[in-house]
Amino acid sequence: MKLLVVEDEPLLRHHLHTRLGEAGHRVNAVADAEAALALQQGNHHDLAIIDLGLPGMDGMALIRELRGAGHTLPILILTARGSWQHKVEGLAAGADDYLVKPFQFEELEARLNALLRRSSGFVQARVSAGPLELDLNRKQASIQDAVLTLTAYEYRILEYLMLNHQQVITKERLMEQLYPGEQERDPNVIEVLMGRLRRKLEAGVGFRPIQTVRGQGYIFDEPCQ
Ligand code: CA
Repeated sequence: MKLLVVEDEPLLRHHLHTRLGEAGHRVNAVADAEAALALQQGNHHDLAIIDLGLPGMDGMALIRELRGAGHTLPILILTARGSWQHKVEGLAAGADDYLVKPFQFEELEARLNALLRRSSGFVQARVSAGPLELDLNRKQASIQDAVLTLTAYEYRILEYLMLNHQQVITKERLMEQLYPGEQERDPNVIEVLMGRLRRKLEAGVGFRPIQTVRGQGYIFDEPCQ
């Protein structure tokens, strides 16, 4: 996906550029609203991350400007801790979601994925791989049209792996997905959930899309569409 990042703090901007790039996105990162507007004119971006506290034209004005010009891309705003009013105003101005600084990159990634999914990433809100199909709206998985009985956590693991298919996902990243913000997390839980999920996928048609990458994590090793 092609992302626009508007953040005036050089370190954070650099960090976002690097990490989002590593996550497979193409990133245009700029320091102010004027540069963002200039870039958006000649480019298509799939999503924008906008810091509200910008020098010159602030983030809120930038969002109004973008929406006013008819840009419908999903917008995630970054706000300083405690500025509750800014959050509300930002959403009212046309942002789709917000993240309070300081944040974990995993949290940002989860929000991004959710926004991208809701926009045009998967048009039908369905993702499929071989005999397996996910309905992202109903949170349901089926194999050859037979609905699987998955727990909420099993479904979330499967969805996350499929939306990030053919990438190695660490246990830590999966845990962050399942228990965002919690400090005390037991990695053994993931192994148990993974075992159950695999058995359910395998039953019947012998579908084994999830591989273990020794010492690294898991990979959904089938192309998804
Ligand atoms: Ca700022």
